[in-house]
Amino acid sequence: MTQRLAILGSTGSIGVNALDVVSRLPKGSFRITALSADSNIKLLAEQARRFRPKIVSVGSEELAVKIKRLLPSGIKISVNREGLCETVSRSDVDIVLFAISGSSCLEPLVKAIKNKKRIALANKESLVSGGAVVMKLARKNGVRMIPIDSEHSAIFQCLDGKRALARKIYLTGSGGPLLDIPKKRFDTMPQEAILNHPKWRMGRKITVDSATMMNKGLEIIEAKWLFEACESSIEVLVHPEAIVHSMVEFVDGSIIAQLGVPDMRIPIQYALTYPSRIATRMPRLDFSVTTSLSFRSPDIDKFPCLGLAREALKKGSTHPAVLNAADEEAVRCYLEGGIRFTAIPKIIEKVLGRHRSPKAGSLSLDNITEAEEWAKEEARSLCYH
Ligand code: MG
Repeated sequence: MTQRLAILGSTGSIGVNALDVVSRLPKGSFRITALSADSNIKLLAEQARRFRPKIVSVGSEELAVKIKRLLPSGIKISVNREGLCETVSRSDVDIVLFAISGSSCLEPLVKAIKNKKRIALANKESLVSGGAVVMKLARKNGVRMIPIDSEHSAIFQCLDGKRALARKIYLTGSGGPLLDIPKKRFDTMPQEAILNHPKWRMGRKITVDSATMMNKGLEIIEAKWLFEACESSIEVLVHPEAIVHSMVEFVDGSIIAQLGVPDMRIPIQYALTYPSRIATRMPRLDFSVTTSLSFRSPDIDKFPCLGLAREALKKGSTHPAVLNAADEEAVRCYLEGGIRFTAIPKIIEKVLGRHRSPKAGSLSLDNITEAEEWAKEEARSLCYH
């Protein structure tokens, strides 16, 4: 049976890879019903001409007018967050792939879960900030959340439904572009060097997050919610080769790992075809080239974001949402040239220190959104004081 797919964020790096995956899968197995982009209407229109969705969604009325001229007739255009919410509620959508970055994904994600769509989730921020609410809702609606983040796809594959028998999660990370650079040189590194990740081609925000290792910190929180794991059972391992995408230790001492070349198309395809695996021409690991794999513990002093993420997770409530929102603002400001690299964790730490969270148990989406807005404002005032 044909699976009908909506890709939110189809012009970003995950979205483009997802369309590539769909075009490699057997004809008729997937049909693209909806695409969305924030502002890259040129590429969105190109994708729409090729995949012929029923609806496309863009980030503003102005862009909607512009893209209308570029689209074949008969394709509906929707706008903004309401447009995304409309898209994920359509009866001709079976799977929603969330490839939008940032926390703006939360509302359409909740909507998709309420409409009982299958979720392929590449957006980690929605779980970091809203994990408690989102996972509760997913359980209530019997909705399966299949992770696309490579580490979480690996953990999902290693667990293979045996969550109750798992004892520990080893979350691996390449260590990013600054792994072997002394901390005192961080602020002298040009932005191009920070944005040049050694193993993965990704968007700018997540690449900076890899350099600060906040990406791994956010992934600890993401893993907590996806796999109902406690903070202390998730250990981060630096693995510069980026071949082992994560591992799970079971109660009997066995450790299962998932390996593969660092190519996002592999976890994207798995999320779409789960529980099946389908033969497609993906790059394959060659052990005559990859002859050694190494692991080490991360340096917490050099990468304080890891500690900040663990702190926020332990405090719970809206602290992870604040961590994430403050990081979004600090990274934006860094990319605009407004602050030094090492100011990113300092700003996040200050914002977290000032945060007063609502009482545990009374957490709602409104609390989360409010905390995020507050954190962004605080971070902005620290960035541009
Ligand atoms: Mg990842």
